[in-house]
Amino acid sequence: MKINQNYANVKKSYLFIEIAHRLREYVAAHPDADIIKMGIGDVTLPLAPAVVEAMRKAADEMGKKETFRGYVDDNGYDFLINAVKNYYANFGVDLDYWEIFISDGAKSDLGNILDLFDADNTVLVTDPVYPVYVDTNVMSGRRVIFADATEENGFLPLPDPSVKADIIYLCTPNNPTGAAYTRAQLKQWVDYAKAQGAVILFDSAYEAFITDPDVPHSAYEIEGARDCVIEFCSLSKTAGFTGTRCGYTIVPKTLKADGDLNGMWLRRQTTKFNGVAYVIQRAAEAVFTPEGQRQIKENIAYYQENAKILMAGLDRCGIKYFGGKNSPYIWLKCPDGMGSWEFFDKLLSEANVVGTPGEGFGKNGKGYFRLTSFSTHEKTAEAVERIYKMLRG
Ligand SMILES: *Cc1c(COP(=O)(O)O)cnc(C)c1O
Repeated sequence: MKINQNYANVKKSYLFIEIAHRLREYVAAHPDADIIKMGIGDVTLPLAPAVVEAMRKAADEMGKKETFRGYVDDNGYDFLINAVKNYYANFGVDLDYWEIFISDGAKSDLGNILDLFDADNTVLVTDPVYPVYVDTNVMSGRRVIFADATEENGFLPLPDPSVKADIIYLCTPNNPTGAAYTRAQLKQWVDYAKAQGAVILFDSAYEAFITDPDVPHSAYEIEGARDCVIEFCSLSKTAGFTGTRCGYTIVPKTLKADGDLNGMWLRRQTTKFNGVAYVIQRAAEAVFTPEGQRQIKENIAYYQENAKILMAGLDRCGIKYFGGKNSPYIWLKCPDGMGSWEFFDKLLSEANVVGTPGEGFGKNGKGYFRLTSFSTHEKTAEAVERIYKMLRG
């Protein structure tokens, strides 16, 4: 027996372990400290009432002989696939039924899709990066190269035609920077990918947070994207499904490759995956009803209000930041030239506020810091007040 030696090359998930470690030490020494966690990468508001109602109803159906369901068919139930198809029509995107695959979330599909590609491909990711893109490729021994997302390019690197890449990850609106490509910028990536014969793995997990009309909700809003983009989306951030688990992946039939990627993905999923629970697919369907949309938009508006509170506070402190407008993430430049961890320690010890050091997401995160809008209004406002006092008080 030989193990997959590539696992030895996967970096330890040092970031959140180190944050937890420093927080534990601080709390041990200051047991009465009132800590505000502004580094949360998870939603906090509950599922919408329409979603819960749909789950209850589906659970009852599962308990009756007449309406009980067994194995899920192919790529998902008709009712949910059609709901996703109609949702995309809102963006002017016309998808074929068989291009939509229901999944248990974006993270698993982002990793699983690599089954379709040879190990001998060069993978391009932007840095700072959502670590999943790198780790999944390192696990299967692929070469990963980086495009620098920096303050100079607004954390939105554009393609460099002299760089050869085969698989390109784009996450927009971005985790961790909150930056989002406009249609014109995304068109440059699509043109580049087509010229290279590359595929773009497009992560639109945060599309529901977009407010800027120039920022596309789907890559397929861009001409030519159907030739080169696989899109991953999820109800995790859209509708609070992080613990409920449901997403959808779009694999166009028109993708240009030396094989039928759509057919390969169907084959892969029907071989290694048995679908998402009926109850959960009914819950997901409810997200796309008018009632569900109204309710989830209220929750998103709540988080967006937190982002505004954070942005106003940082403006008042004279701290430069990115994101926030189309995203639950605020990516700030640590004041006075401080390093990410230096700022983390100062914020923890002087303001009792916890955030996420940017350098945990890659070398270009050095000197930056991520705050999230997943807390309450009250705690967000209090955190902002404490940061102001710490820096200006
Ligand atoms: C949260 C998140 C997802 C969603 O993952 P799920 O597995 O659907 O919960 C996908 N991509 C990014 C960048 C994320 O931050």
